[in-house]
Amino acid sequence: MKDVLANITMVERLDVNIHSELGRIYQLLETELAQLNPGCNQCGTCCNFTTFDHILYASSIEINYITRNVEVPDFNVADNVCPFLKDNKCSIRDFRTLGCRVFYCNPHYKEVLNDVYEKYYQKIRDLREKYTIQWRYLPFLNQLDEFKSKTTAAT
Ligand code: SF4
Ligand code: SF4
Repeated sequence: MKDVLANITMVERLDVNIHSELGRIYQLLETELAQLNPGCNQCGTCCNFTTFDHILYASSIEINYITRNVEVPDFNVADNVCPFLKDNKCSIRDFRTLGCRVFYCNPHYKEVLNDVYEKYYQKIRDLREKYTIQWRYLPFLNQLDEFKSKTTAAT
């Protein structure tokens, strides 16, 4: 373990710290959501953004968390469907974004979930100040597409 840690770069070490904090933020969020229990049968329909007339936004910290942990499949932004949706299920549940976690189609929870979103968005944004890192908050699919283009160009 010591040798492994000695070999990782400063950037990777920073990512490890940020991602560990982000993981804890997600855990707190999941506990709060479990108490609220808005109900979801995990049908995956809301991951088709056209169906729900919805744009999923995410921070660059969250995109980095995903792309460091899972492979991003080839996809077409114009399809407006999350590329991680497989057989109508999220294939990256442990790494999914704040927006994915807080979205429930039950209209009775809309207001309370907006408040939950704001609260945890702020916690994630605070990581930017703490670690003085770049911050972007843009549509999820566009950021994934940008990541794919960069990695494809580099190979
Ligand atoms: S990451 Fe998972 S939950 Fe989020 S939009 Fe994609 S498939 Fe849905
Ligand atoms: S929030 Fe609603 S649409 Fe989305 S997966 Fe759950 S039940 Fe399906």
